[in-house]
Amino acid sequence: MLQLSRYPFHTLKTVPNGSDNRSTGLLLQAGFIRQEMAGAYVFTHLGLRVLKHIEQIIREELDAIGSSEILMPSLGKKESWLKTGRWDEVDVLFKLPASEGKEYALNPTHEEIVTPLMKEFIQSYKDLRNCSVYQFQTKFRNEARAKSGILRGREFIMKDLYSFHANTEELDTYFEVVHGAYDRIFERLGLSGSTFYTFASGGAFSKYSYEFQTELSIGEDNVYICSKCGQAHNEEIIDPAHFVCVECGSTEHRLTKTSEVGNIFKLGTRFSDAFELRYQDETGAMKPVTMGCYGIGVSRVMGVIAEKFMDEKGLVWPENIAPYSHYLIVIGEHLDEALSLVRKLEAEGKSVLVDDRTVGFGSKAGDADLMGIPYRIVLSDKTLAQWGYELKERTEDESQIISL
Ligand code: ATP
Ligand code: MG
Repeated sequence: MLQLSRYPFHTLKTVPNGSDNRSTGLLLQAGFIRQEMAGAYVFTHLGLRVLKHIEQIIREELDAIGSSEILMPSLGKKESWLKTGRWDEVDVLFKLPASEGKEYALNPTHEEIVTPLMKEFIQSYKDLRNCSVYQFQTKFRNEARAKSGILRGREFIMKDLYSFHANTEELDTYFEVVHGAYDRIFERLGLSGSTFYTFASGGAFSKYSYEFQTELSIGEDNVYICSKCGQAHNEEIIDPAHFVCVECGSTEHRLTKTSEVGNIFKLGTRFSDAFELRYQDETGAMKPVTMGCYGIGVSRVMGVIAEKFMDEKGLVWPENIAPYSHYLIVIGEHLDEALSLVRKLEAEGKSVLVDDRTVGFGSKAGDADLMGIPYRIVLSDKTLAQWGYELKERTEDESQIISL
């Protein structure tokens, strides 16, 4: 339970100036986030709860495919980044000077850490059965333009998963397992109808990489969707003058703006070669390990959901990621009744934010809408005269009286 009379992060009367877009403005106004500087945000209590709920959905689906959660450090060894050639190659890499002339990387991704880590644990083909690890971690990238609020940060939360295989066939099989988990994740996040599995540029090892692109008017990517078979293509693999679907060959298409919420990538042996990550096969021969990597932009997903579901009154969170499920407005001297109702609701698995401030009903109802809490309860002389409370859904106008 959260009691607003004792809560520091109050809402603002109006949208603060200078927001990059409306949903960032609403997240600021509703007190979910604060900007420390361009590209770096504080998640206050309500914002953090949304982020943790998104994280938990991802965690459940990755645990279900048997991946192991770990946590790697943000500081990276310069030697490892030199070894892969990425110390000088990655333009967004933050380099941190330290004592005695040393330098560190602030990791923008974790291949340089996870590959040497797994080298200690992978010796034989037997160690490569369903071998994958993942983490939720703060990534650092010196993005040229950090804008669009939490959609593009210089510091942001990513889920990154790395998988290790005996050969390309086993990677291909596992790739589809993760693809399935991603479909379930975006379904549970309420994004499946508007998220496209998109062919994008692949790099050295495979022809394409695969992005999960969510249709969003403020998105930074342009995606071509085939009108015939529905396949989505990132503009980076398209000749815009002559669109031809890579799946079915049709030239009919529509162009739409999207935000990349995740991507899955076949790395091949690029990193295992650099760190000599090898395994012994059934015949005793030493072979390089084949790797895959799989990202989801957790904090970006929060921004995408905020932008996608907001309405004219404020934020609208889907119930499974909302910071609290119920916003309880207390009118008059009824805090005791409110607290016993909270206990009852919590016993049913609901989470409750109690608005017991000494402000008028209009302000309370306005904040309930602004914060986007799925259910609003009113407890007052009027409802208690009917031995009940009023219940209304965030997106409905009708309310009903429920018996206490
Ligand atoms: P983008 O093209 O948007 O820069 P990317 O190709 O650099 O993304 P990856 O390195 O694959 O992204 O990172 C995995 C996921 O992390 C992305 O799919 C995206 O959702 C998220 N992400 C990447 N960069 C940022 C950022 N600067 N701020 C917030 N989220 C990000
Ligand atoms: Mg990038």
